[in-house]
Amino acid sequence: MMLLETKKLSRRFGGLTAVDGVDFSLPEGQVHALIGPNGAGKSTFVGMVSGRIRASEGEVWFDGKNVTPLPAHKRIRCGMAYTFQITAIYARLTLFDNVALALGSRNEEEVQAVLERVGLTDRVDQIAGTLSYGHQRLLEIAMGVAQNPRLLILDEPTQGLAESEIEGFKKLIDRLKADTTILLIEHNMDVVMSLADAITVLETGRVLASGAPEQIQTDPRVQDAYLGT
Ligand code: ADP
Ligand code: MG
Repeated sequence: MMLLETKKLSRRFGGLTAVDGVDFSLPEGQVHALIGPNGAGKSTFVGMVSGRIRASEGEVWFDGKNVTPLPAHKRIRCGMAYTFQITAIYARLTLFDNVALALGSRNEEEVQAVLERVGLTDRVDQIAGTLSYGHQRLLEIAMGVAQNPRLLILDEPTQGLAESEIEGFKKLIDRLKADTTILLIEHNMDVVMSLADAITVLETGRVLASGAPEQIQTDPRVQDAYLGT
């Protein structure tokens, strides 16, 4: 069964159709990468999936249920977690307090277990705002993971990361994919090719191509429009 499906999902902003009738499906257990040039509609699409952006038309189905009418907080309760393109951590609080807020529990073992999953256990008492940019992004993912989601949506998680941090990020996703389905918006093709089970290419709001990484990589339309090869 599909964990996530969208049916003819569209969003208009005034005269601009940012997402245009997208049919998409994501089976449980996969890492699915959403790629495409800037302005293709990727963030708008996942915004509609998570419920932060209202659809103009079409439907979002999650775990066999039509969640289109549900606001974002109710979709979180259904098992969706979303990390923003902009860091959304509490900069003045410790890592412990940040994760405790996301968990809704101050149980030390639970907080440590979440930090362990992203490799930040040794910084539990550090003030989040004093972390490096890369570590702040990991904390952000930790806060999504704390909700123990069935679907984790990451919007450009490697943006602004150093090469060494990107390697750490790839290992993190490898660990997380064992028990979480992941929808990943990503520009770095090396990251996409090493992590994704399937890829969807968006262009001007429409699906240009969708399939296995090998298929996408060799698709002439994708190469013309996006990969620049
Ligand atoms: P991507 O994430 O692929 O770069 P976006 O989903 O952010 O693309 O944007 C798709 C298109 O919709 C762009 O042309 C963008 O300018 C436009 N857009 C996005 N959000 C809004 C908004 N709130 N109001 C008006 N236009 C928007
Ligand atoms: Mg975007």
